[in-house]
Amino acid sequence: MKCMICKHGETKKGTATVTLEKGGSTIVFKEVPAHICDNCGEKYIDDSVTKELLKKAREIVENGVEVDIRKYETAA
Ligand SMILES: [Zn+2]
Repeated sequence: MKCMICKHGETKKGTATVTLEKGGSTIVFKEVPAHICDNCGEKYIDDSVTKELLKKAREIVENGVEVDIRKYETAA
């Protein structure tokens, strides 16, 4: 896939760290599957993965956790 930001780079499969801030909570997901531009480093995350991250983030916020750092794990 061509990068939409710099329009020069090609995206490659890799992993990214995603930080979400929600209702006073900060949640950091490590090793999130992503496509990363080899030119500018822009990260593209699939919709299904984004949805999963937001769902997990909501659960964490509901539990009243302020800071949570975890590895992303795909639901089987
Ligand atoms: Zn780029």
